[in-house]
Amino acid sequence: MSFDVHVHPWTRAFMKKNGPIMKACGFFRLDVAKLPETTGQLLEEMDEAGVAKAVILGQDTHATRNPAFRNYTLRNDDVAAIASRSQDRLIPFAGVDPNAGKGSVRELRRAVKSLGMRGLKIHSSANSVYLNDRRLMYPIYDFCQEEGLPILFHTGTTGLGDCEIKYSKTELLDEVCQSFPDLKVVMAHFGWPWPDVAIAIALRNPNVFIDVSGWKPRYLPQSIMPYINGILQDRFLFGTDYPMLRQKDWMEDFRASLAQKLKPGIAEKLLSSNAKRLLAD
Ligand SMILES: [Zn+2]
Repeated sequence: MSFDVHVHPWTRAFMKKNGPIMKACGFFRLDVAKLPETTGQLLEEMDEAGVAKAVILGQDTHATRNPAFRNYTLRNDDVAAIASRSQDRLIPFAGVDPNAGKGSVRELRRAVKSLGMRGLKIHSSANSVYLNDRRLMYPIYDFCQEEGLPILFHTGTTGLGDCEIKYSKTELLDEVCQSFPDLKVVMAHFGWPWPDVAIAIALRNPNVFIDVSGWKPRYLPQSIMPYINGILQDRFLFGTDYPMLRQKDWMEDFRASLAQKLKPGIAEKLLSSNAKRLLAD
């Protein structure tokens, strides 16, 4: 049974209120009529696809200066509530807005200590804050390193509209990993169009993982395959980016296009055991 580390608990109604997300639907060529109507649908879809567990991601832009992201926040209380109805199948990651300054660490502490959230998601392009911003990001990293809390970073380009890639450039995390050597990091989407940089950072830092979300397996770049099968086999994580990609579609594509290219034992690491180790689950 597999473990999807990258799920957005979005409903169609929530997505329709968000211009940048609707642009992402266009980017992924999604039929809006087929988007999930309720968050409850997620567990049914996971069952159908043979996915046992998933990380669900919070997001917070309440203090951003970018007006396009006005309706983008998913409250940590709401994400934790969705997880609490899942019999431990959904693992909640908090969202905080680094623009809130000290308030971001305060909210993160509350999300972890009071709501039981197990990690943090940062989409720095949605927040218009550079990943290596010492004033706004470093206090958050300090807290996460201290608590052993993993951070899942959006890295590289994004389907979201009305924001800039420059904040999420993969190379910015090299400095972060050097400054916080014990920080547990997931680089989502292997930092494309800079997958080689993501791999270089993972090779230098043993706490860095890479998720393959947002891509159907058949389109994964050839350049990352030797690392999935080789020296970084303990660091690649399965993720879909639900609902942009649905678990059933991803799994079907995986069986048709990728499974046979993996050496014995690698599929199990990619689909499940690497995530379990990261989350000590
Ligand atoms: Zn995502």
